[in-house]
Amino acid sequence: MSLKSINPYTGKLIRSYPEYTQKKIDAIINATHQDWQKLKLTSFKERSVWMNNIAKALITEKEALGKLMVDEIGKPVKDAIAEIEKCASVCEYYATHAEGFLEDELIETEAQKSYVSFQPIGIVLAIMPWNFPFWQVFRFVAPALMAGNAGILKHASNTSACALAIERIVKQSGFPENSFNAIIISSSKLEETIKNPLIKAVTLTGSTGAGKKVAALAGGLIKKTVLELGGSDPYIVLKDADLQMAAETCVNSRLINNGQSCIAAKRFIVEQSVAKEFIKLFKAKMEAKKFGDPADTNFHLGTMARTDLRDDLHKQVLSAINQGAKCILGGYLPEGKAAFYPPTILTNVKKGNIAYNEEIFGPVAAIIIAKNEDDAIAIANDTSFGLGGAIFTKNIKKGETIARERLQAGSCFVNSFVKSDPRLPFGGINESGYGRELSLYGIKEFVNIKTVYIK
Ligand code: NDP
Repeated sequence: MSLKSINPYTGKLIRSYPEYTQKKIDAIINATHQDWQKLKLTSFKERSVWMNNIAKALITEKEALGKLMVDEIGKPVKDAIAEIEKCASVCEYYATHAEGFLEDELIETEAQKSYVSFQPIGIVLAIMPWNFPFWQVFRFVAPALMAGNAGILKHASNTSACALAIERIVKQSGFPENSFNAIIISSSKLEETIKNPLIKAVTLTGSTGAGKKVAALAGGLIKKTVLELGGSDPYIVLKDADLQMAAETCVNSRLINNGQSCIAAKRFIVEQSVAKEFIKLFKAKMEAKKFGDPADTNFHLGTMARTDLRDDLHKQVLSAINQGAKCILGGYLPEGKAAFYPPTILTNVKKGNIAYNEEIFGPVAAIIIAKNEDDAIAIANDTSFGLGGAIFTKNIKKGETIARERLQAGSCFVNSFVKSDPRLPFGGINESGYGRELSLYGIKEFVNIKTVYIK
C-alpha cells in the first residue's frame, strides 16, 4: 500500500509514498531511542543552537517549503509562507526560553534540599493533521526537543512531502541524527506503533473521533496524551459592538486556511437588534473573498485540502438547509476538478441544526440570532466543544468578564479573532481535547516532574 499526495487544485497525483513496514518502523523507533540517550545528556545551550539552526533553515527555505503546502493541500501561497515564518518563530521562542521554563524549582521542606526537576521522558509520538502541516508539527517539535525528548511524526496521509521535509530540516540542524523521525503509514496501521514500549506518550491534533480512539488505546497502556481536537468556536457580536470591525474580523477568522482551522470562527451569535446590519456587512465582506489557483497571490482562498473533505462539507451544508437554514451566499459545488468551495453563509440556524451542533470545517459561516447577551452566552456554551471563542463589544470590561468567567473554552478573545501564539497556552476543554501546547505550559506536558529530596 502507498499513501498518495494528490494536488487538490489540479486533481493530479503528485507522488505515491510506499507505506513503511512495521519492521522498518520498529527499526526507526529503536534508532530514535538510541539517539534520545544522547539527546537527553545535551545542554540547553547546545539544543538552543540546533533549534535556532532549524529556524534559520525554515526562513532560508520558506518559499520551497510553502510550495509543498500549496501543492499538497491547496493552501494560498502567501499563507503558506507565513506559516513557515511562524514555525521559525516558535523554534526561536523555545530556543530562548526552554532553559528558564525547565529550571529546577526549589521547595522549602524540612530536608537539606528539596526541589522539582523537569526531566525528559523519551520518545513522544506526534499524530498530526494536514491543515497546518508545518505549524502543527513545529509547535510540538520545538518544545519537545528543547526539553530533551525525541519525536516520531505520523503525519496525515495526504501530507507526506511536508512530513519528510520537516524530518530533513531537523536532521540537518545538529540535534543527534535520529532525535526526530517521520514514519509514512496510514492511521489504520498505527496501533502497533502506539503500543511500542519505547513510545512514552502521544500528542494528537485532529478530529475528535481520532482523538477518542488514540486516547483510549494510549490510556489502556498508561501513556499520557495531549489532544488538540476540533472546535465549533462561537463569536458573539453584542449590540454595542463596532460592527464593521466585528464583521471584518469574523470573516477573516472564518476563512483562515480556506475555513479549515480548528480555531476558525464557526458560529456567529449576533444580538437580535444588530443582526440585520451585521449580516449585511458580513455578507459583503464574504462575497469579496475570491477563490482560485492557490499559487496565485491574487486570490484570498485556495482549494480545500481534499475532494472528499469538500464533498463532506457540501453534504453538511445541504443537511443544514434541509433542516431549516437559509443559504444567503455560496452553498454550491463549483464545476471542474479543483476542490473549491465558495464562501458560504447560512442564516436562520437554530438549535438542532447540523450547523449549530457539528464542526463545519470549511468556508461556511452559521449565523445564529440571540435574544440578548445572556441568550448569546448560553448559545455559545451550548456545544460539546470548547476550543476558542470571541466577544465583540465596545465595553471592554464587560467583554473581559464574559471572556474570563462566562464563556467555556480554552481561549477567549475580546474584539479579536482567536489565534495561537508561542507565548500563550493553547488547547481546549470538553470534546476539543485536553492538555496545552505552546508557552511554559506546553513544554511541561511531556516531562517527568520529578521530586528530588535530600535529607
Ligand atoms: P483526522 O482526525 O482523521 O486526521 C488527523 C490525523 O489523525 C491524521 O494524521 C490521521 O492519519 C490521524 N488519525 C485519524 N484517525 C486515527 C486513528 N484512529 N488512530 C490514529 N491516528 C488517526 O482528520 P481527517 O483528515 O479525516 O479530517 C476530518 C475532520 O477532522 C475535518 O473535517 C475536521 O473536522 C477534523 N480535523 C480537525 C483538525 C484540527 O486542527 N483540530 C485538523 C484536521 C481535521 P490519516 O491521515 O492517515 O488518517
